[in-house]
Amino acid sequence: MTNDLHARAETLIAKERVEGISPVEQEWLGKHLGECAQCTESAHAMQQALRSLRTLSISVPRELAARTQLRVWLRAQELQAREPRWRLIWALCGASWVAGAATAPYVWRGLEWIGHRTGMPDLVWKMGFGVWWALPAIVAAAVLLMEGGEGTTRKNVNGAA
Ligand SMILES: [Zn+2]
Repeated sequence: MTNDLHARAETLIAKERVEGISPVEQEWLGKHLGECAQCTESAHAMQQALRSLRTLSISVPRELAARTQLRVWLRAQELQAREPRWRLIWALCGASWVAGAATAPYVWRGLEWIGHRTGMPDLVWKMGFGVWWALPAIVAAAVLLMEGGEGTTRKNVNGAA
């Protein structure tokens, strides 16, 4: 067996991995590998090298994917822990707005009466009515803001106490 044949085999082995080889070349290579232990070994070595390369390139995104998954899971846990409080806030807000709508005429009349009795300008008691109406929203906004900066808020509270 001449060196030319081994060289051709080696070229074909590399070519097969990169761009593919024709059926004729494939047949020739198969036959040569069947007869030549040296080329079979080099083909195996190349396959092994390619495999380790492939696992290396796969292991990086896989680890990244695991980390991303962990982050998503942690985020989901965080949201889940926060959800009941959000629901409670919105439920309180809703209840308060419904109660507000039901009692609005009385509050309006009451404020109007107080306003006229004390002689305060119309604008003042009308603004008071506006604040009373917006109070649930203001409270909810304050609570949500506190939730957003929970760490600093807690520190401030502790510092004040
Ligand atoms: Zn050979």
